[in-house]
Amino acid sequence: MLSLDIPNSATKPELSTPPHILVVEDEELIREMVVLALKEQGYEVVTAIDGRTALNLLQEAESPSHSSFDLIVLDLMLPQVNGLDLCRLLRYQGNTIPILILSAKVSETDRVLGLEVGADDYLTKPFSMRELVARCRALLRRQSFSTATKPSVLQFKDVTLFPEECRVMVNQKEISLSPKEFRLLELFMSYPRRVWSREQLIDRVWGLDFLGDTKTVDVHIRWLREKLEEDPSKPQYIVTVRGFGYRFG
Ligand code: CA
Repeated sequence: MLSLDIPNSATKPELSTPPHILVVEDEELIREMVVLALKEQGYEVVTAIDGRTALNLLQEAESPSHSSFDLIVLDLMLPQVNGLDLCRLLRYQGNTIPILILSAKVSETDRVLGLEVGADDYLTKPFSMRELVARCRALLRRQSFSTATKPSVLQFKDVTLFPEECRVMVNQKEISLSPKEFRLLELFMSYPRRVWSREQLIDRVWGLDFLGDTKTVDVHIRWLREKLEEDPSKPQYIVTVRGFGYRFG
């Protein structure tokens, strides 16, 4: 009997469950092509044809008994809640699920806006399914890396951060950081090379009750650089990305 050869799903290790992707796209043809391409990769795909349905699905998926999604492929122009608002809302709620935006808009401002509201990557229509799959795969890899059990040590070049102990060593010497500086550095080191806007850093490090402006971020970055960098005027660790914000490494 064929079923005897299929491993019992209850005994299957957690890692082997296929990635669970939510595709939010109102154009039927594109939606079907995307679903087909992703299913061919062995991914599990759920679809929504408007922003509100997507939100409902995501909220259901957040219950502890239900596995959440690993990635959202999100069209920008959607009925009801549009893609940018959906993205902004998820990030506002602290949801860190990777988001790949699909858009017919080609202008640079839209691209920047997509990343500003917390999307992880961006594809402009028309795109090839091969490219879509490659981008999805990259985001899923990054996700499985970042959600693996919290590392006991974050290391980058000469900087070592011990998340549980709230300690940081630079060149084997312990440095003293304020709680905000520590959280900023921990966030940076958890996502090497990811570009963060000042607003995103405020959301993640200061939280929603933050009173002040984005200059606060710059001030903390300057203090961190003074403690980390050999030459704070030529930073090697916390790099300014002109027009976007900052990245680590
Ligand atoms: Ca659309």
